[in-house]
Amino acid sequence: MKSLIALQECDIRMRDIRMKREEGPRKIQALEQKLAEVEKHLEEESERLKEYAQDRRKAEQEIEDMEIRLKKAEVKLSNIKSNKEYEAALKEIDDLKREKSLVEDRVIEILEKTEALETSHAANRKRTQEAKQQFRLDHEEIMKQIRSLDRDLDTLTKKRLRISREVDPVLLKRYDTLRERKGGIGVSPVIKGVCQTCHLNIPPQEFNELLRGDKLMTCPNCTRIIYWGEDERLMDNTGA
Ligand SMILES: [Zn+2]
Repeated sequence: MKSLIALQECDIRMRDIRMKREEGPRKIQALEQKLAEVEKHLEEESERLKEYAQDRRKAEQEIEDMEIRLKKAEVKLSNIKSNKEYEAALKEIDDLKREKSLVEDRVIEILEKTEALETSHAANRKRTQEAKQQFRLDHEEIMKQIRSLDRDLDTLTKKRLRISREVDPVLLKRYDTLRERKGGIGVSPVIKGVCQTCHLNIPPQEFNELLRGDKLMTCPNCTRIIYWGEDERLMDNTGA
């Protein structure tokens, strides 16, 4: 029974370690996702800045074209004879000037937007660098934890093998089957008449039998193998 109790403790610890170990890759995945989002945002900002630059070049080209047309129109104006033609040429110049001023406003608007975005982009780039560095540190830390848990698991696996050799094979098989079916717990202490796993009462007569400790008993409720949890004969070497 002592060995069986030690085995159960071993199995509980192994189960806890495995659960903790599974958290590692999940945490890494979550961190990777977060970092990818930050990087994507940065990428989008870069794209938008490129678009602004393109728009600006296009608008500046338009302004240049209009200036050429304006010069031509002014030359034309100085060679005009009739009043009617003169007025038409003047109107063309006015229209061109108005159009040009609209495009110039657009350039200013683009410059302002570019400046604002460049400021936030620089801050974002810095934050992304920091996030990358933090990710590397976190990743390293998690891997370190995983390696340490693997070592613990390895030690416990060896310990379990050693203990399981001390247990009667039939009993071991029964325990393993119970453990697999009953959420990892195959053997349960009973304290003051209560099964410590399912928390239900053991009938007094059965509890008295359990106190004598001369035969293998099971919990009438959860069917796990039970032992008297306050039995000093089982206490001495059950600790980890
Ligand atoms: Zn029970």
